[in-house]
Amino acid sequence: MSAPNRTDFDQYMVPNYAPAAFVPVRGAGSRVWDQAGKEYVDFSGGIAVNALGHCHPAAVAALTEQAGKLWHVSNVFTNEPALALAHKLVDATFADRVFFCNSGAEANEAALKLARRAAIERFGEKKHKVLSALNSFHGRTFFTVCVGGQPKYSDGFGPKPEGIGYFEYNNLASLEALIDDDTACVIVEPIQGEGGVTQATQAFLQGVRDLCNKHNAFLIFDEVQSGMGRTGHLYAYQAYGVVPDILSSAKSLGGGFPIGAMLTTSDIAKHLAVGTHGTTYGGNPLACAVASAVFDVVNTPAVLAGVLQKRARYENALNTLNAEVNVFAEVRGMGLLIGAELKAEYAGRAKDILGLAAEEGLMILMAGPNVIRFAPSLVIEDADIDEGMARFAKAVRRFVA
Ligand SMILES: *Cc1c(COP(=O)(O)O)cnc(C)c1O
Repeated sequence: MSAPNRTDFDQYMVPNYAPAAFVPVRGAGSRVWDQAGKEYVDFSGGIAVNALGHCHPAAVAALTEQAGKLWHVSNVFTNEPALALAHKLVDATFADRVFFCNSGAEANEAALKLARRAAIERFGEKKHKVLSALNSFHGRTFFTVCVGGQPKYSDGFGPKPEGIGYFEYNNLASLEALIDDDTACVIVEPIQGEGGVTQATQAFLQGVRDLCNKHNAFLIFDEVQSGMGRTGHLYAYQAYGVVPDILSSAKSLGGGFPIGAMLTTSDIAKHLAVGTHGTTYGGNPLACAVASAVFDVVNTPAVLAGVLQKRARYENALNTLNAEVNVFAEVRGMGLLIGAELKAEYAGRAKDILGLAAEEGLMILMAGPNVIRFAPSLVIEDADIDEGMARFAKAVRRFVA
């Protein structure tokens, strides 16, 4: 059998993705190499996942040490890495209790099931309405994709679950018009990631909290993309000072090893009694050992402050470039979740810039057709930011030429 290559994707894989033309084979820090030995600066971070870049020594040590000890026991038994990680997350957040799973979608699935279950047990069957923002993204299981406010992802799969309503993000009046005493929960991303890197206003997030209180509805923050240091705070809710009842975390949580978590209070957690929910792999020792090591590095004043410094470095470079090329209408987001929206005359062409960037040796993302997104390692070296931005500038100059 010949060595695998990109054309094998089109032959053997289900065609639900359209990966780049090159195949990465190795990474170190914020640099990646492909099959041909070409080197890339990585501003994509595996979509806000590789919080410590590639093959960080602390993560490699945790993974290899655990690999020689215990891989998996299921939730018929508990294990030390899961218990240690849960303890750390509880100590660092509003939460008293943690449920582990394997992805962001599963963390939201657990959050939504818990919210409905708790609301129904407390107030009766009618209290099951789920309210979510238009343009939001909460994962691809059927429940979470239907709760997500982007019909292009949820249409075409047959009948959808009932009792889901949509309000406009950053428009409190739009939520106020929908929420009532039959509302079980409101789910919000503090920063809409996939939807275009739009952060909530302080007044909106506080207003959502107040409306939830008024109607006895649970507030769920989906921090799958905004969490684990991304904003310069462990979780974005801490930047706003607005506390949810339930929080979902994934992506950067495992630094590249698949893991998700749902965090909540004891009072709410008790509604997920024995047998009401579960997953075979959730709290897997390998995943939890790696996440624990990632947490220990990220949740330090130096790394969190560094995120804000690095953001300023990116913003300076983007503003300087834009003064020259006049391509971007706005730079958005918080910390190292950076969105640059294309001006109207370039609408729909973010993908072209991704292709040119790859040619120049730079991995970047889009967030919808009009927004360039960077979600790099939280410990990316300043020299890598500078080199990556120089390559980005070359790509954008070619784009406008
Ligand atoms: C990525 C993402 C998800 C889904 O996470 P998966 O691990 O892909 O299931 C959910 N919510 C938000 C905000 C995300 O960015």
